[in-house]
Amino acid sequence: MNFETPPLVETFSDQLDRFIELEVEPLEAEHDQFLGETGEQSLLDADGRVCEEYLSVMDEIQRASVEAGFYTMHMPESVGGGGLSLLEFTMMMEHLHDRHPDGFHEDIVDLLSVTPALLPCHDDEYQRERFFDPVMDAEMHLCFGLTEPDHGSDITHMETTAERDGDEWVIDGTKCFITNSTFADAIMVHARTSGEDGDPRGISSFLVERDNPGWQQGKVQRAMGGDVGRHAFNHFTDCRVPAEQMVGEEGRGFMDAAMRLVGWTRLHLTAKCVGRAQWLFEQCVDYAKQRTSFGEPIGTRQSIKNMLAELRTDIEQTRWLYRHAAWRYDQGENPRWEQSAAWLRGGELWNRAADVAIQVHGGAGFFRSLPFEGEYRAARAARIYDGTDEIQRRTIANQFLDR
Ligand SMILES: Cc1cc2nc3c(=O)[nH]c(=O)nc-3n(C[C@H](O)[C@H](O)[C@H](O)COP(=O)(O)OP(=O)(O)OC[C@H]3O[C@@H](n4cnc5c(N)ncnc54)[C@H](O)[C@@H]3O)c2cc1C
Repeated sequence: MNFETPPLVETFSDQLDRFIELEVEPLEAEHDQFLGETGEQSLLDADGRVCEEYLSVMDEIQRASVEAGFYTMHMPESVGGGGLSLLEFTMMMEHLHDRHPDGFHEDIVDLLSVTPALLPCHDDEYQRERFFDPVMDAEMHLCFGLTEPDHGSDITHMETTAERDGDEWVIDGTKCFITNSTFADAIMVHARTSGEDGDPRGISSFLVERDNPGWQQGKVQRAMGGDVGRHAFNHFTDCRVPAEQMVGEEGRGFMDAAMRLVGWTRLHLTAKCVGRAQWLFEQCVDYAKQRTSFGEPIGTRQSIKNMLAELRTDIEQTRWLYRHAAWRYDQGENPRWEQSAAWLRGGELWNRAADVAIQVHGGAGFFRSLPFEGEYRAARAARIYDGTDEIQRRTIANQFLDR
């Protein structure tokens, strides 16, 4: 066993810090209306969507990120990516998020667009030219449509259907809560093409472009925090797509694309939670050393020490959960319950860290002049998306109950 940080991750992390300093921080200074305690107000247009000015800043960062090799660092070298292993990539994600959350650094990678779910498109000339290459070059943004108003955890019961009509597929149904669907150029949408309700087989994936008249953007869904202005209902009515826009094999979209993506996503999201929690912990330690009450630093009080000790222990536990699961994935295994265990702890960790940060900072922690209340709101979604806490527990227990 070797617990050292791989040299590649150390070098790449230094390069990432330098990239943020040179390419991202100047844009933050130029567009500081999107940051700080009133940032969210400037970010949204009149309809509640993330505004055009912010999207053009995001595009600028992503084009620079493509040039610097960060944007596709997790994709295989054989398709033009950076070829990082999942362990290396998740460690990079922890590093990316172990910093003040109020900035544009999250835009350096767009993990909804450039995902392993898109890999089958590389092998198909039509899909490579129309979707894969533009996504890898940050010229096209995708969103990922699975969830429906009546089906989330039980998504294999989805009601969206696609029927073959000559050279086309005709999609009908509604997807909701879809991140980035307020601005994405295309959506990877999942629909039942055959099979029984509840069967993961028979669900296929399709790429639908924004200008398709059968895809209508519905109501924007205003989020509690985090990535505000990005979620919406998406309606598909007699939505005709050429047969060439089915991704992968017919009937295997959910099993191949969605399930592969979910395991991968749960680990890089856990790494993000660890990075965020580590940064919040450091803020608490600094504050506990300098804030005094009754003439003594609050860090001398056992109740404050307890909060810090528990949080630091949880961070370490979760860090090694995600790293071990990522390492097993890199060995070609399918560490399904370990991915769920990591993500279960990851979402809880980020929530607890934000809560502790508010508590340690007292009244100051509650107000928007510090970033902790924003973290508290953003973290809450991590116990819901990519499978709720309850679904992670179900997956873990079922592994041992042979279900
Ligand atoms: C910020 C955010 C971004 C999102 N982005 C996307 C996106 O980009 N694309 C996309 O497709 N979806 C997205 N989602 C949707 C997300 O994946 C679903 O919300 C999630 O899977 C839960 O589904 P649901 O909301 O329908 O809840 P439900 O499935 O209705 O669950 C309601 C409650 O019942 C519990 N429950 C359900 N079934 C069981 C069970 N068998 N055992 C025990 N408890 C159970 C759940 O844990 C939950 O507490 C996003 C959600 C959020 C909050």
